[in-house]
Amino acid sequence: MKIYNSYKGKVEEFKSINENQLNIYVCGPTVYNYIHIGNARPVVFFDTLRRFFETKGYQVKFVSNFTDIDDKIIEKAKAEKASEMVIANKYIDAFLTDLKNLNCKIDYIKPRVTEYIDHIIDFIQELIDKDYAYNVNGDVFFRVEKIKEYGALSNRNIEDLRSGSRIDVNPNKESPLDFTLWKKTSEGINFAAPFSKGRPGWHTECVAMIDDIFNQQIDIHGGGSDLKFPHHENEIAQSIALNNHRLAKYWMHNGRVNFNDSKMSKSLGNMILVKDVDAKMPLRYFLLSTHYRSPLNYEEDSFNMYIKEYEKLNTIARQIFVKLELVNKLTEVKITDQEIKSLVKEFDNSLEDDFNTANAITALQSLLKIANAGIRKKIDYDYLNQLLKALNYMSYILGLDIKMERLSEEDKTMYHDWQNARKSKDFKLADKLRDELIDRGLL
Ligand SMILES: [Zn+2]
Repeated sequence: MKIYNSYKGKVEEFKSINENQLNIYVCGPTVYNYIHIGNARPVVFFDTLRRFFETKGYQVKFVSNFTDIDDKIIEKAKAEKASEMVIANKYIDAFLTDLKNLNCKIDYIKPRVTEYIDHIIDFIQELIDKDYAYNVNGDVFFRVEKIKEYGALSNRNIEDLRSGSRIDVNPNKESPLDFTLWKKTSEGINFAAPFSKGRPGWHTECVAMIDDIFNQQIDIHGGGSDLKFPHHENEIAQSIALNNHRLAKYWMHNGRVNFNDSKMSKSLGNMILVKDVDAKMPLRYFLLSTHYRSPLNYEEDSFNMYIKEYEKLNTIARQIFVKLELVNKLTEVKITDQEIKSLVKEFDNSLEDDFNTANAITALQSLLKIANAGIRKKIDYDYLNQLLKALNYMSYILGLDIKMERLSEEDKTMYHDWQNARKSKDFKLADKLRDELIDRGLL
């Protein structure tokens, strides 16, 4: 398997640190608002990555946090006259509902900053003890210039950053590049620490959680490309300071989602919230339609195409399923047909090539084409079972949910009565049963 490692800026052969085990962390949301379709892209992409690794036999430990302390949450709490906890809980629930509707697995580990305060304080104290951080009147800063390789992920270097930094910097900092690990404040929710009463800085939360949960370097750290600098650089710097490694062996970053070729923003009023999109499965299909590193553009017309594509997948898979179910021929088979086999291989190869979901979807669409023809060919139950197996496999990994409830005995009896009526040329009864079967979505 090959993965583009953002840290090195090149595609590399993937090899997990522990055999058949994948430790992955993806930066989660700051919970003060509903998520838009751009926020949903990493969620859907890394869920697909998880599904693929699990299918290939990896034990996946998937962690993604909730930032439940932040200036924006405090502002929102004031505006809505509620506590920060109430605001955070409301948007965590909304986030998980969106995930469920996008058919993302939600049984991952979800640490919240408020539950990790003690560990974050210990983590910062250790950085102070090792002289990588300093306390000025209760604010704690990280000494960036002690980390020689700072900037390697985002292709920056300390010299350029220093000369590019603005003059109006905090006079308490030794260098304008230093970032806040702990902020002394009495505003909003705050915690007692040896440094001061206050709260942690965003850049220290993820790395402190990873340190506690995994206790070793992880395989993959993921997030949107806008997090590379400064967030991920700062995470790496702290990890080098304390643990002498770059936190993750592979860094993966997804591109952003534009709306009609411009950046989505609240102020431009062109933000599409996930909760407002009715067609959740087509949305997932759309989010995977382009390679994760490329920008993705949302346009109404092209989105409608994914509504149709998803419908096609659902209809064809269900037709095969019903056909097999009605005659009790749905069975577990081995894929032996050369054409089906090679499309499954093409699908796998695409994902093993730096998770090229666009090419994987092309393989799915080719499979749908032969499946559509297969339904109309002479009945070959083994072949139909193979088609269904391949369709189920691909849609499972892409997370495209296909509705296939088992048929009731009544459905099956009605189908046989219809066939018998046709055989005995009782056309009146046959027509009546046929209408009923169509109503039930069985013909
Ligand atoms: Zn993070």
